[in-house]
Amino acid sequence: MKGEIITYPLIVANWKMHLTLSEALVLAGQEAKTAEQVKHIEMVICPSAGFIYPIFEFTKARPENLTFGLQNAMWEEEGQFTGENSLLHFKGICKYVIIGHSERRKYFAEDDEIVNKKTEFVLRHNFTPIVCVGEEERFHLEDHYQSEIRRMKEREGILTQIEKAFDGIPKNLLENAVVAYEPLWAIGTGNVSSGAYAAAIAYIIKSHLKEKFGEAVAQNVKILYGGSTASDNVKEFMMQPDIDGLLVGGSSLKAQEFNKICSISAEVKSGRVI
Ligand code: PEP
Repeated sequence: MKGEIITYPLIVANWKMHLTLSEALVLAGQEAKTAEQVKHIEMVICPSAGFIYPIFEFTKARPENLTFGLQNAMWEEEGQFTGENSLLHFKGICKYVIIGHSERRKYFAEDDEIVNKKTEFVLRHNFTPIVCVGEEERFHLEDHYQSEIRRMKEREGILTQIEKAFDGIPKNLLENAVVAYEPLWAIGTGNVSSGAYAAAIAYIIKSHLKEKFGEAVAQNVKILYGGSTASDNVKEFMMQPDIDGLLVGGSSLKAQEFNKICSISAEVKSGRVI
């Protein structure tokens, strides 16, 4: 249809601090093949920062639907920031930056203020931030839907994390952000959320974005689910209309499993539910 915008599920591979360089090159080659074969997805690979350029060169023949992302970046262009990644070093190489991942919040004391500075900096430099938010303990949404929403607002919950991450950033920039909803109790635990649970939170996030930042931000910000996703559970997440993609940790390190996750996501989001 004329004027129709087609968006494909955004599948982000967070390799964390894993693999040797040779293992990373092999895996990148395999995942590039997946991106070529499963055309109706947007794949982002986030390797260790030091491996990004070698992988970028190694996968020169990659398809357009494969891009790269950083797992973290500094909120300044350059300076005395030992051990940090400057976005300037990755211009033209990376498109995405993961910000405020729960492991950064936990081990590197990244708080909402830092997440806000990074989100704004990344957006101003024309990269796409993937802002991670999530609760430590499981809500019992299914039983107490209304009161739980109120409680989420009251305590330092998901909605507060989003408000603080986006605080003061112009709306026209915010429209380009991605939010990854990652319940902490589900990350790397095998303790996966249900599709209905993730959908309820995604809906609450969308409604809150609309209330706080307006219709355009709510419509354009993509929401990803992350937390112990695997080929046998992705279908129920991808079937949810407010979930636009996945942030995949452990399963993105296994080429075959990641291939299945991508294929299933493409199938489900294209309306051909398998
Ligand atoms: C993550 O750390 O972002 C993540 C989703 O990990 P896993 O898929 O291994 O739970």
